[in-house]
Amino acid sequence: MNKRIYFDDPYQVEFESEIIDRVKHNNRMALVLEQTCFYPESGGQPADKGTLNGVELIDVIEDEGRILHIVDQDMQEKKVKGKVDWKTRFDYMQQHAGQHILSQSFWELMQGKTRSFHLGQNVSTLEIDIKKISDLELEKVEEEANKVVFQNREIKTYFVDEDKIGEVPLRKPPKKSGVIRVVEVSDYDFSACGGTHPFRTGEIGLIKILKWGRIRNNLSFEFVCGSRALKDYTLKNRILLQAASRFSVGEEEVPDAIEKLFADLKSGKKQTRNILMKLSELEARDIRQNAKSGVIKKVYFGRSRDDVRHIALNIIRNPGYIVLFGLKADNIANLIMARSEDVDFDMRELIPAASQLINGKGGGRPSLVELAGDNVENLNQILAELGSEFLKS
Ligand SMILES: [Zn+2]
Repeated sequence: MNKRIYFDDPYQVEFESEIIDRVKHNNRMALVLEQTCFYPESGGQPADKGTLNGVELIDVIEDEGRILHIVDQDMQEKKVKGKVDWKTRFDYMQQHAGQHILSQSFWELMQGKTRSFHLGQNVSTLEIDIKKISDLELEKVEEEANKVVFQNREIKTYFVDEDKIGEVPLRKPPKKSGVIRVVEVSDYDFSACGGTHPFRTGEIGLIKILKWGRIRNNLSFEFVCGSRALKDYTLKNRILLQAASRFSVGEEEVPDAIEKLFADLKSGKKQTRNILMKLSELEARDIRQNAKSGVIKKVYFGRSRDDVRHIALNIIRNPGYIVLFGLKADNIANLIMARSEDVDFDMRELIPAASQLINGKGGGRPSLVELAGDNVENLNQILAELGSEFLKS
C-alpha cells in the first residue's frame, strides 16, 4: 500500500518518493509511488493538481487500493519529487470541510440526510433528502453552519477498527469495510471520509448557499466556501453597485427601481400601440381617399404584420373594398387580403394561388386571409396577378 501523506498532513505539498510500479492506464503511463501527497479523485472531491519532477499530472486516481499518478510522458527515473498545487488543494479543503458542516446543519435543523455531494470547479452541490425549505429555514441552516466555522473548532482525523465503528456517532454509515478513517468536526460532525480538510473550522471561511432547486425527490443546494465565497461576494457587490449607479439609486432601492422601469415600459408599450392604431386609421383613410378603384393593392416593407393588418381592417370597415396587401419583413413574404362585409366573395378562394406564388401557406376566414412564405421577390407582381384573377370574377 502507498503511504498517503495527506491523511496525516493535508498541508504538506512537497515530497520525494521511490517509484514502485509503472502501469498502463487508458494507454497512458501511470506511476505508483511508495508515498504521496496527491489526493486521488474520490467521494465527490476532485483529484489534486500538481507535478512530478516538474511534469504536470494529468490525473490522480485510485485503482484497487493503489494511487495512480497519470502522466503524459514516460518517466524512467527511480525517484520523483512531487509538488501539489497548494491553491487548488486548499480550495478543495475549504469546500469539502464546509460540506461536512453544512450536511450536519441540515441534519440537526431539518433532519435532512445528505444524499450526494459534488465538489465542482466553481460551485459545489449538496443533495439533501427534504421536500421543501423556507427562506427562514435556509437562513437558519446557514447561520448554524457559519457559527461552527466562527467557533474555530478542531477538525480531527483518526482511524477506527470496523468492530469499534459502532461507537462513533457517524452521520452516515461507512461505505468501506475494514479500518475506517473518521473525520470529526469536534463534537459536531462525525464522518467516514478519506478527503483533505483543514485542522480548524475557521480556515473554511464563510459558508454561503447560493441557490437551490429540486433534484429527483430531494433538494439540491449550490454552495461556496472561503475564497470562493469572497469571489462571489465581490462579483455580486460589483453587479449591484453597477445597477444602483445605472438607476441612480441606493443599493437597497434597486429592486424597486427595476419594478418601476418595468411598469414604465409596460405603459409606454401600451401608449405606442394606441398611437400606432391611430396612425393606421389615418393611413387607411388616406389610402381610401387616393384609391382609384375598390380593389386596393399595396406592398409594405419592414412594417409589422399587426400594423399592416390594422390598415386593412380600417379600410374594409367601409363598404365596397377589396384589399390585397403584401409585406416584406425579415426576409418573409406576407400577404394580408381582406374584403368589406358587403362584398360577396370568399377570400379563402385566393389561398391556393397565393400559396404557390409566395411559396408559403396560410389561412383565415371569408373576409380575411393571411399567408406567409419565403418568396420575397416581386410582391407587386404577385399582387397584380392575384388582383387580375379577382377582377375577372
Ligand atoms: Zn471529508
